Amino acid sequence: MARKDIQEILAALSVRPAKDLGQNFLCDGNVAKKSVSMAQVVPGELVVEIGPGLGALTEQLLATGAEVHAVELDGRLCEFLRNGLVKRFPGKFFLLHGDAVAFPRGDVAAEDKTTYAVVANLPYAITSPWLDAILKLPLPKSMVLLTQLESAERLLAPPRSRRRGAIGVRIGAAFRMISMHKIPPQCFHPRPKVQSALVHMQLLDEPLVFSQKPLAIMRHCFQFRRKQLATSCRAIENHGEKLLAERWLHLGTVDPHLRPEDLELSHWRSLQQLNCEHWPTEV
Ligand code: SAM
Repeated sequence: MARKDIQEILAALSVRPAKDLGQNFLCDGNVAKKSVSMAQVVPGELVVEIGPGLGALTEQLLATGAEVHAVELDGRLCEFLRNGLVKRFPGKFFLLHGDAVAFPRGDVAAEDKTTYAVVANLPYAITSPWLDAILKLPLPKSMVLLTQLESAERLLAPPRSRRRGAIGVRIGAAFRMISMHKIPPQCFHPRPKVQSALVHMQLLDEPLVFSQKPLAIMRHCFQFRRKQLATSCRAIENHGEKLLAERWLHLGTVDPHLRPEDLELSHWRSLQQLNCEHWPTEV
């Protein structure tokens, strides 16, 4: 979809791109094609798309024969899609009008065990909360995400780096990074002020999903990222979480004087394993 086409459609719909909805529409066909080819979608495969907008990515996905389940918050764009792609691809394109943070897989139920992929040009404001929601079971087999470069760097940040945080630990525990490509502002309408990145990741054979207590401890430690683990864990208020954190630091596998960004994935894994020994059924 060229910039001129997007401008014309938006004018006809009386829609001014909203910053708070991250409405930077893709106007570079090559980026859309690249996203879809990276995802290696096969006909009939279930693909979840977040924020289809005017359908630039959606159309490419549908052209592969995939079954696309999308969730879009802007009702005017939903109406546009219902009059267009939904009619053109009956039984192939399913659109939910709603918030992707509440419905991270669109209308695909969490109980549905069908393997699925995610392909999305994510609205900036929901990148973290949506990732938080999707990083619960069932996980996608792969994700191709177009996001702000800064967010992509957080996902990829290795131990001992400034951008390392809970989301990077969780992504690294469940996915293998395949590639990251920088995408310049001119590929979008309107042009964002920052660089973007196209990130491709694949589910590991044995992905690790952190349960509630280890996750709460991890988040707490990163909230006080300049503090040593021993100091920040002492300040945990929840009794069960504090108990688990104390046992973890007494195991001898983790140096309590380290800061959270210094920890390897294996250290966080030991926290999860310890939790499973004490609360085996917790999710
Ligand atoms: N996929 C389209 C493209 O690539 O041109 C549009 C991408 S644009 C970056 C983000 C889209 O997400 C917009 O259509 C916006 O309305 C939608 N959106 C914003 N917040 C949302 C939310 N919480 N849930 C679902 N969709 C949302």
